[in-house]
Amino acid sequence: MSFDQLGLSAALLRAVSAQGYDTPTPIQAAAIPAVLKGRDVMAAAQTGTGKTAGFTLPLLQHLAARKPEGGRHVRVLIITPTRELTAQVQESVQTYGRHLPMRSMVIYGGVGMHGQVQRLRRGVDILVATPGRLLDHLRQGTVDLSRVEHLVLDEADRMLDMGFIHDIRKLIAALPEQRQTLLFSATFSKEIRNLSRGMLKDPVEIEV
Ligand code: AMP
Repeated sequence: MSFDQLGLSAALLRAVSAQGYDTPTPIQAAAIPAVLKGRDVMAAAQTGTGKTAGFTLPLLQHLAARKPEGGRHVRVLIITPTRELTAQVQESVQTYGRHLPMRSMVIYGGVGMHGQVQRLRRGVDILVATPGRLLDHLRQGTVDLSRVEHLVLDEADRMLDMGFIHDIRKLIAALPEQRQTLLFSATFSKEIRNLSRGMLKDPVEIEV
């Protein structure tokens, strides 16, 4: 299996080979074609499996394929449990999207709201956020999630362990019903299956 069999565009393949990757990891080989097809995905994958590229690459391709009608709204929302993880995911977005005109930003708590509000106002395609602070922005009306096309819940089991379940449900209620949803978790516990019910539509299940 090689990256050019997965259906990724030339711009993304260039970014991948610039990273020195020659073979997709198992999660990438399974997730990338499913995400490109527009399917919802539920994947059991630990950190270190290459899961971040597994969702970032195909979502970048979706964004590049369809230009928005001139909006400044969020099109991809990636929710992660911690500030460190937002930074890691954002780095992947920038690395793989370097040949594409995408604006991404991170949102997390423990810092002032003001800078984040100003940055949001300028327009963002891809937002990587922790749940609590994102909910603060939603309540203040400083973020518009009504036109999100793709949602990723990264490390969903950790988010449940950290007590983010209610925040996540409130955030999801602000999203369009019609969207693609990807859920990544170290394990498929009973709690994760409960969370996924009603949130994912006929998901492709991947375990690596
Ligand atoms: P992740 O599981 O997404 O945190 O990724 C773990 C590490 O694997 C990151 O440092 C990536 O840069 C690296 N990585 C991702 N995909 C590949 C690949 N196909 N080949 C080699 N390394 C990769």
